Amino acid sequence: MLYYMKTFGCQMNVSDSDMLSTLLEERGFTATENEREADLLVVNTCSVREKAEVTAERKILEFAKFKQDHALLWVIGCMAQRVGEELMQRIPAISRVIGAKEIEFIEDRIDQFLSPLGTFTADDSKTESSWSSFLPIMRGCDKFCTYCIVPHVRGREKSIAVETVLEQARHMVARGAKEITLLGQTVNSYKYEDVDFAGLLRLVSEIDGLERIRFTSPHPKDISDEVIEAVASLPKMCHHIHLPVQAGSDAILKRMARTYTRAEFLDRVKKIRQCMPDCDITTDVMVGFPGESDQDFQDTLSLFREVRFTSAFMFAFSPRKGTGAANYKDQIPEAIKIARLNELVSIQTDITKECYNEMIGKEVTALFTLFQEGKNGRADHWIGTDYGFKRVILETDRQDLGGELFTGKVVRSTGMTLVVEA
Ligand code: SF4
Repeated sequence: MLYYMKTFGCQMNVSDSDMLSTLLEERGFTATENEREADLLVVNTCSVREKAEVTAERKILEFAKFKQDHALLWVIGCMAQRVGEELMQRIPAISRVIGAKEIEFIEDRIDQFLSPLGTFTADDSKTESSWSSFLPIMRGCDKFCTYCIVPHVRGREKSIAVETVLEQARHMVARGAKEITLLGQTVNSYKYEDVDFAGLLRLVSEIDGLERIRFTSPHPKDISDEVIEAVASLPKMCHHIHLPVQAGSDAILKRMARTYTRAEFLDRVKKIRQCMPDCDITTDVMVGFPGESDQDFQDTLSLFREVRFTSAFMFAFSPRKGTGAANYKDQIPEAIKIARLNELVSIQTDITKECYNEMIGKEVTALFTLFQEGKNGRADHWIGTDYGFKRVILETDRQDLGGELFTGKVVRSTGMTLVVEA
């Protein structure tokens, strides 16, 4: 049996797709790169923007058109949660919708869902995890930022039991994972009985064989001194904190219901830099939020110049139906949003280049996870990440570096990638 999976959206979706792939492979399914020959087609959807839903629906329609008669078509994730029933009515080729809230229970129901294709028996010796794995430690969100659909689709925050997290992490390591990224919509709000996020980091870091730990995405409000000190003091913790600022103006932060001020955000950055001067701090930001004045936008630019994020995911606000911000009357014209986005991208691109260029001549330790054969005049090379969040490339035809912590000297930078030599 062959399956083909198309994943849209965030790392939580990537992790859910990985989990589903594992369950399928335990049952003898093999991933195929040819959608047309698949016995099972899966589209893992994202609802964060309207455009993401349109793109996912286009893919579902495409699969519906060419899938083989016996093949199953599953639509999973946030869109399945939000408008699953409606989708099934409109596109009868969909065999099943599995919403974002249901996906965590998929293991109990997958054999029933696969039954039109036959009877399958799970055998977990059939799968391998990758050198770098994602591990959800919580689901949902309680923050209700006014622009975000996530709490409406994924539900309220729920932390996964400590023992379950540790057991899954040990299992990943036993299968070959060297690095684990702990995942949650507001990952640092984790609290299970008397274990908070800093406590969980300590417990995960005691797992033998695990070399590196990351987490994403924390909420700036909950990035406590204890969490920063745990990241700084535990040797397996990567020195990278993704801290989504979203805006640099207090007025806009308040309208977004982000629950922190610019000064409080900067205070967290200061604390991180005091404890870990080498820490890569990255961010998410949105320009053109309703009511954003020129001055508000200038406040965002000045915050970016002050913090000097290593890199940033930058977006223009787009109203999401079903959220508070979509109803605000003072929406910003598209042309202004695009101009502001371009200005911010240009400033951040220069900062990112400088951050990368500063690494030339230094030694970095990278975990390589992807080997690419040379094409179009390029040499064979490994791609990985350093102890922060910088992309590292080593040109080599050695095939045996996957999953190894490799230390090399940075010989040049492309502005977005560090090139190292052995
Ligand atoms: S913290 Fe805000 S932006 Fe992040 S998932 Fe929750 S509501 Fe959405």
